[in-house]
Amino acid sequence: MQLSQFKKPHDIEKIIDYLNTVELKVNIMEVCGTHTMAIAKSGIKSLLPTNIRLISGPGCPVCVTDSKDIDTILEICKQYKDVIIATYGDMLKVPGSRYGESLEKLRAQGAKVEIVYSALDAVELAKNNPEKNIVFLGIGFETTTPGTVLALEEAIKLGINNFFIYSMHKLVEPALRALLNEPDFDIDAFLCPGHVGAVIGEEGFEFLVKEFNKPSVICGFEAGDIIVSIYKMVEQIKNNKPQLENEYTRVVKKNGNLLIKEKVEKYLEVSDDNWRGLGNIPRSGLKLKEEYREFDAEKKFKVYLVNTEKENGCQCGEVIKGKIEPKECKLFAKVCSPENPIGPCMVSSEGACAAHYKYLNF
Ligand code: SF4
Repeated sequence: MQLSQFKKPHDIEKIIDYLNTVELKVNIMEVCGTHTMAIAKSGIKSLLPTNIRLISGPGCPVCVTDSKDIDTILEICKQYKDVIIATYGDMLKVPGSRYGESLEKLRAQGAKVEIVYSALDAVELAKNNPEKNIVFLGIGFETTTPGTVLALEEAIKLGINNFFIYSMHKLVEPALRALLNEPDFDIDAFLCPGHVGAVIGEEGFEFLVKEFNKPSVICGFEAGDIIVSIYKMVEQIKNNKPQLENEYTRVVKKNGNLLIKEKVEKYLEVSDDNWRGLGNIPRSGLKLKEEYREFDAEKKFKVYLVNTEKENGCQCGEVIKGKIEPKECKLFAKVCSPENPIGPCMVSSEGACAAHYKYLNF
């Protein structure tokens, strides 16, 4: 069926009726956590037949942050009394592997942890607290990295020397490549994040089709966007014509945002990085360039970590890789809940476990 056969604006009801006639087995990975939440919240899964599955991928920033980074941040917080950790709220409850601690628990014990709503807020914090050192936790993918480099630029411009960045920023493409190269990876198509696309452009997702032959659609975050994109992927698979389609042309251009790309390249460089569940992925992270090392929290605040990794039953790694659904984790909703999260996928507002708990726990 051609999409043009549906009324404009797209007749979502008819698209759903049509998808329910499709007998093909299709596994679609939604790459980013914003899509995971939008899908759960809008009830899209319940409208699809069981043969069309939506599976969460590695795009929740908090979820993919390696536990060693969390442990290091907790140690900085404990060992350096002049440090204020400035962080987005999602990081607060993420448990470390050491002593089962989190920033929230340390804060309750008197440690200085401030929630910020932007990286620039952390620069402001540094300006207002000249006797303290502010460590801003830079997390997220191509969408949040620009905010971090703009804050760094602002700190340099203002001559602020008590602002530091702990960069855990990550890149989408290397993570998808790592997943695609897993031997038992069983995903037929990719729902690509529109906000990442706004930065990296259509060209940033072309490898999915050119190298891996996977139908892919760059998609916005309204329920209608998502349903239309699912339809497009199903049709590509049915007709055996994999391609990259841009359903989000109102925001995503061919080459992305060149100004932002240049700005990020000026301050950050690509490096190998550790991911929860995916291990070390070459050239998958962003760290401060050598010439800006005086702002690099990892270089400034050295801590010694003993190997504290311990088995707690959390299967976030498997959830992130799309190997299991959150409900398949034996701790889900029994031991692990948003009030008592065992792993980051339950902490984050974009985590697959949190989304399932909140909207699909029936
Ligand atoms: S339900 Fe909790 S313990 Fe299980 S994978 Fe999710 S976050 Fe980890």
